[in-house]
Amino acid sequence: MIEHTVGDLKLLHFERLSREPGVVHAVTTRPQNFAPHHGDNRDRAVYWRQKVCEILNVPFDNLTAPEQVHGGEVVRIEDEDTGCGRDGRGSAIRFVDGLICDKPGVPIILLSADCPLICAYDPQLPAVGAVHASWRGTVAGLAGQMVRQMAGEFGSDPGRLLVCISPSAGPCCYEVDRQVYRVARTRLDDADACFVAKGERYMFNLWTANRRQLINSGIASANIEVAGMCSICNEQFWSYRRDGKDAGRFALFISLI
Ligand SMILES: [Zn+2]
Repeated sequence: MIEHTVGDLKLLHFERLSREPGVVHAVTTRPQNFAPHHGDNRDRAVYWRQKVCEILNVPFDNLTAPEQVHGGEVVRIEDEDTGCGRDGRGSAIRFVDGLICDKPGVPIILLSADCPLICAYDPQLPAVGAVHASWRGTVAGLAGQMVRQMAGEFGSDPGRLLVCISPSAGPCCYEVDRQVYRVARTRLDDADACFVAKGERYMFNLWTANRRQLINSGIASANIEVAGMCSICNEQFWSYRRDGKDAGRFALFISLI
């Protein structure tokens, strides 16, 4: 990813997506915490959200967030949703982990401490989508659901979507128990490509699981950018696994302009 430092804030940008003139995006890093409901310095989270919107030149007032419940649901941002969740989870769009949007100037924010955040851009319509793909969301098919909804609601051709997978728990560190593996096998066609056995436990490759799901949904392999940075062993990012329940959250912002 491309680094861009502004004052105390270091932002990362996906290489391919940053060459597109119709969209702005950023992934944040530590030490700033973007969750008003979790972790150290949570009272500064809204300030940092405003700062990133200023840097990206999009209106903070329209910043919109899903509640993020580790599920598989995605909805389209309607006019009355604009700005929901900008100040915190209490006003976020309920019951969903993903949003799709065809309105310029309506930035989406997602939060993570290990979960992959996945964004999509259709340069032709234009339209964007963004999902918080926790292991449960990944197994529930959330990334594929985003692609299907962009196709169904906006007419996006999956073949022209650019899709990016954020820094998140990597295959080097993301260990799960057998029960996760059992559940994943009931859902993922190719689960054995996404797990490596390690004694009684398994290493779960969330990047591969989401990449394969996207390809099965019609995304071209060349149009998927995986950051390939592990939030557990790379201390630039917040990690629930590493920092525990006091972990802050890093964020993905994406907006049509
Ligand atoms: Zn790692």
